[in-house]
Amino acid sequence: MLRRECETHSDTGRYIDGLLAAGKLVPDEIVNRLLEARLAEADCRDGFLIDGYPRTVEQASHLSNILEQLGFQAPTLIHMDVPDEILVGRLSARWGCPVCGTIYNTITKPPKRKFHCDHDGMKLCQRKDDTVATALCRLDAYKRVTDPVLNFYEIPGSGKVVHVDANQSPDAVFDSIRQSLEVESFSFVRPRKR
Ligand SMILES: [Zn+2]
Repeated sequence: MLRRECETHSDTGRYIDGLLAAGKLVPDEIVNRLLEARLAEADCRDGFLIDGYPRTVEQASHLSNILEQLGFQAPTLIHMDVPDEILVGRLSARWGCPVCGTIYNTITKPPKRKFHCDHDGMKLCQRKDDTVATALCRLDAYKRVTDPVLNFYEIPGSGKVVHVDANQSPDAVFDSIRQSLEVESFSFVRPRKR
């Protein structure tokens, strides 16, 4: 959602772009406003997955209000547990194709030909916020503002938290998430492009 806003080159988009490039978090009021508009769209009616939100207690509280207004039940928070050093290593190993958007990882999912896309042969790029320095900065911000979100969901009625060991293969992580949610199957729909 944030990247989509950047692509519109609106004032808000340019502001977000600068924050992301510096590894900083986007202010609550902007994220909340974008989220509220998105969850009211028709394709969210049967449920949705939000990645990387809520990151603050204020956002968690705001999300509860939005969900109540839109008639959704209390959310389930999936917390992916991974040691810091593994996270930093993964981020700096991430490369993407500028044409088809396929994401590769030089450690866990390397392309067949070094630094070239399997699908179209394009030279792969790194996102400007995928560096070790910005990864450490993001981890620090995460510990200060996001850890308290886990406590928020211990308040009765606010939702539930499930912890998943995400230091496993993607398939094993997927199975752990599915088991923790007690659902048989997921249908994933790629985000729409505007
Ligand atoms: Zn490609």
